Amino acid sequence: MKKILLIHTGGTISMLENKETGEVYTTNKHPLSEATYILQEFADVEEKIIFSLPSPHITPDHMLELGKLINSEMDNYDGFVVTHGTDTLEETAYFLDLMLVTKKPVIITGAMRSSNEIGSDALYNLISSIRVASDERAIEQGVLVVMNDEIHTAANVTKTSTSNVATFKSPQYGPIGIITKDSLLFHHQILKRKKYVVSSITKKVLLLRAFAGMDGEIFEAINERSIDGLVVEGFGQGNLPKDVIPPLKKMIANNIPIVLVSRCFQGIVQPTYSYDGGGKHLKDMGIIFTNGLTGPKARIKLLLALEQTNDLQKLHMMFQID
Ligand code: ASP
Repeated sequence: MKKILLIHTGGTISMLENKETGEVYTTNKHPLSEATYILQEFADVEEKIIFSLPSPHITPDHMLELGKLINSEMDNYDGFVVTHGTDTLEETAYFLDLMLVTKKPVIITGAMRSSNEIGSDALYNLISSIRVASDERAIEQGVLVVMNDEIHTAANVTKTSTSNVATFKSPQYGPIGIITKDSLLFHHQILKRKKYVVSSITKKVLLLRAFAGMDGEIFEAINERSIDGLVVEGFGQGNLPKDVIPPLKKMIANNIPIVLVSRCFQGIVQPTYSYDGGGKHLKDMGIIFTNGLTGPKARIKLLLALEQTNDLQKLHMMFQID
């Protein structure tokens, strides 16, 4: 039997519903700990609680602490399952995917309905995750997100619905596998990716989203504060309103890396249009183009990349492959 470390961080999967008020709250004792004996059917599972936080309270420092815990236990287990709130689950998953250098399975899961709600997906998703973490085919696949009978890569998965249990999707490429009652089916192999081994997170990176009529005001304000990097979610193939160009030029002159992603949920940014603020114009100015990441994930990657370098050319290279 495989030896799996189960690490709880909080989120709905660790909460209960108050039957009188309907409010969902954090409990003192993890509600799934009572079900640990069910998990033993699938693997030799040991459990740790690292945090009891709703995931909107999770920061990159928490992600780093979690990664360090997994690294410190790496030799003692065959795989790892992390339970996490669904709101920022994809950011933690991607952070760990970039940071951890291991072939061992690392699975992140959560739940849309707390443990005592009707139709709860908490225990079900946890069992599915233990099954995936114990499977040979999950080796060397990077950090995986297991929810609702699907297996997704950390780089591609995103929460798409506020409340539906089928919320996690990979809009670009779909899930890499599915889970049925008696089997797991993997149908994609993950490409090797560059790792970002970090021991601290010290940089400040902001994320802004473009909208019709956006002007340079917010960029001017940001320029006056000390930030280390900026991610902008542009329109379509990677275009911005023309009025944001002068402050963006100033930032680049100040050696602040600006990373461009699209606010579309599918596709990649590319330097197509040469008008003011068009992708070609932005690329010529020195803006860094990504290859399909969402804004929050590009921000995670820039945070980690900046711990290694702030050389704009090197950052351009790092973002060519996601
Ligand atoms: N707000 C909750 C959280 O992210 C939602 C969830 O866990 O599903 O902690």
